[in-house]
Amino acid sequence: MTIERPAIQSFQPPVRTLMGPGPSDVPPRVLSALARPTVGHLDPSFVGMMDEVKTLLRYAFQTRNDLTFPVSGPGSLGMETCFVNLVTPGDKVIVCVNGVFGGRMVENVRRLGGTPVIVEDAWGEPVDPAKVEDAFKANPDARLFAFVHAETSTGALSDAATLAAIARRHDALTIMDCVTSLGGVPVLLDEWGIDAAYSGSQKCLSCTPGLSPVSFSEAAVARIRARTTPCPSWFQDLGLVLGYWSGAKRTYHHTAPVNPLYGLHESLVILAEEGLEAAWQRHRDNHLRLAAGLQKLGLDFVVREDARLPQLNTVWVPQGVDEAACRARLLNEFGLEIGAGLGALAGKVWRIGLMGHSSRASNIALCLAALETVIRG
Ligand SMILES: *Cc1c(COP(=O)(O)O)cnc(C)c1O
Repeated sequence: MTIERPAIQSFQPPVRTLMGPGPSDVPPRVLSALARPTVGHLDPSFVGMMDEVKTLLRYAFQTRNDLTFPVSGPGSLGMETCFVNLVTPGDKVIVCVNGVFGGRMVENVRRLGGTPVIVEDAWGEPVDPAKVEDAFKANPDARLFAFVHAETSTGALSDAATLAAIARRHDALTIMDCVTSLGGVPVLLDEWGIDAAYSGSQKCLSCTPGLSPVSFSEAAVARIRARTTPCPSWFQDLGLVLGYWSGAKRTYHHTAPVNPLYGLHESLVILAEEGLEAAWQRHRDNHLRLAAGLQKLGLDFVVREDARLPQLNTVWVPQGVDEAACRARLLNEFGLEIGAGLGALAGKVWRIGLMGHSSRASNIALCLAALETVIRG
């Protein structure tokens, strides 16, 4: 043997308070669910649990869509699953870009041989519906429309109902990124007429990272069935995945991440117990509490008041303050993680998450006290 036996021991993570852009704090109930005995992924008990996960997700998404299930992978895989199934080469897709995640949608369209028509808004602004209307008028042949509901890179919330209505009037299907919005602010797929949506387990659902709930309308399923070219990804081809996640007889597609799905199930049960309206209200109330404290510290929000995400608070780093040094002190002295700026906002902002289980009074008190200490230096 040439490779020596490593003297590595069990990993013991430090205890942190997670107030960044995700993952959020995972409640003990979800952590214990993850530790339950692993069963076979085609075990009748597990198949029953998969059905419950779908029912719970339909509640969270507020949809009757049959094709609603968690993709085995992070939010980024949910995003690719939507695009890879719905975009065919030559398709024109209107994509809204007002931060990092809209830019990724553009990249998806390009790689799939589609033509993105980019509707751009400044970072920190919500998507402007008037620009979307103009883009459809200039591109009546656009077949798809895509936008990010909650831009986690900036903290801006866009008006999904209005945007999806514009797309419907122009006979385009709508893909919505609701990775950060699901569970934190209203996400009403059926009422808004969203055709494909993807989310993530680690943001306002407060599960561990690695699963991506998705949902597809009947119109989206019909569009996918009518494809004349095969879906370029085998793993994400919904036609194949479907036999595993629905139908009387489950056929093997891939081995589902059994224990992570116990965790997602538990986090969705917690959400259902609280109730969606109560969860949205809690996120709102806690956002207002945090915002009042941040204002006292002299920290200004990047996003105007009526477009702020309650679950992601982006503030400008004050002049003369070393933002990375402050974050390092928060982590090392207070065990507190907050987020740095991404892309155009790198080095300029802090992103403070109040997502899911992280959205609670004790976290706000810790964050405000710790920030005050590190800003004063
Ligand atoms: C976090 C996030 C993603 C990506 O999710 P991953 O689980 O990190 O792959 C996509 N879109 C938005 C808006 C996000 O906040």
